[in-house]
Amino acid sequence: MAATSHASVKSRDGVSTRAGRWPLLGQRRALVIYLCVIVALDLVAIMLLTVTTVFQWRDLLTFTALMGGGAVCIEATRRLGMPAGVSRDLLSAWWLPVALLLPPVYALFAPIVLQILLQVRVRATVIYRRVFSSAAIGLAGCTASFMFHWFVEDPRALSQGSGSTIGFAVLAALLFSLLNIALIAFAAHMANPDRPWREVLWDRESVLLDIVELCLGVTVSIGCGLNLALLVLALPPVVLLQRSLLHAQLQAAARTDAKTGLLNAAAWQREADTEIVRARRTGDTLALLIIDIDHFKRVNDAHGHLVGDQVLAGVAATLRSQLREYDVVGRFGGEEFVVLLPGADTDEARQVAERLRTRISHMAIPAENAPIKITISTGVALMSVHGDDLIDLLAAADLALYRAKELGRNRVCIPAVQPPPRPLPKDPTLDPG
Ligand code: GH3
Ligand code: MG
Ligand code: MG
Repeated sequence: MAATSHASVKSRDGVSTRAGRWPLLGQRRALVIYLCVIVALDLVAIMLLTVTTVFQWRDLLTFTALMGGGAVCIEATRRLGMPAGVSRDLLSAWWLPVALLLPPVYALFAPIVLQILLQVRVRATVIYRRVFSSAAIGLAGCTASFMFHWFVEDPRALSQGSGSTIGFAVLAALLFSLLNIALIAFAAHMANPDRPWREVLWDRESVLLDIVELCLGVTVSIGCGLNLALLVLALPPVVLLQRSLLHAQLQAAARTDAKTGLLNAAAWQREADTEIVRARRTGDTLALLIIDIDHFKRVNDAHGHLVGDQVLAGVAATLRSQLREYDVVGRFGGEEFVVLLPGADTDEARQVAERLRTRISHMAIPAENAPIKITISTGVALMSVHGDDLIDLLAAADLALYRAKELGRNRVCIPAVQPPPRPLPKDPTLDPG
């Protein structure tokens, strides 16, 4: 699926890895099984429905017109570039009408067409992700299509303004969104079981987008059912929405480190500065941690940079899952991470740092022979104790990190603070009284 040729992919070190050639095999076993099951279900559904569906020219024309709409949308936003990582689009505006207006088999084909276009024209990503997305969207769309056609005999009733038909269309669109979210969320959870379900399933921005997609999908379906030519009128607003969405995603991407999804160094420093100024004003406590993966070069040397990158992503996910929402986490560079803990005193900072150290030492990143285990060293600095601004705190935490490495790694260090000099006792012989 991922690499059909026998050309081997070499890491920057020249170490050839199976996970490098077949990125799917580098994933957790449970995730691989889940992805294969979903894709197999999709293939079975395609085969069964293809042989039992009576294909009609009118349906084929509608399908081609809707896929044309999706293609124009993709082309029109392509030049803006796509941010790395998970990105959202408004392509449901095109495959939802496919599910509502056409027999269910078309809902299985629609995402395949658009995912191929995305792969070829927008961003070439690992193939298994595209295949899984096609299968997940296809199965969700096909189920929604079955549900809609079960209640509505002639989908053209949608364009005659029948209230109950529009109600069923909205229900089918909801079912489509929920199924799609559930299928993707399961994969995300299996890829990283430490990530809380709430974070995987619930994101206010995503829910808003799902509602926009649902409204667009139902509206385009009604227009398309009235007259296919109306698609031409639907295109400009959908393209504009898609472009504004991309703009917001690109803005977010400029703050984010692409490999880990954490804040990049510049964005982290800006946010950390704001927190430090606030803590200085309110007199609250605050702690800063610098975390460095121990002997990371050995991981790269033994398994290649691609696996090294997966370790970085795993550490980032564990950090995120173990910290509060308002803690500021960033990738400082290379294999170094920075965390700002607003409101934390010495004891709390030490506790948090120890918890992170323990969790990361229990992490097992799947690799070719045996899972990779790593440890981290952490330097801690406290506001008002080790410094009053970001530069001083970073310098103190860096010094502590250096000490942790010197003492043998896999530990947390807090710089000792010299107690302020005590006033000398008065010399009674000098007392004028
Ligand atoms: P120490 O315990 O002293 O920190 O040893 P170390 O090997 O972790 O530290 P060193 O500074 O010697 O090596 C850091 C390594 O991190 C070298 C570099 O190739 C690797 N590295 C930096 N950025 C990335 C990245 O984005 N991806 C991968 N895979 N490796 C990276
Ligand atoms: Mg380092
Ligand atoms: Mg290191």
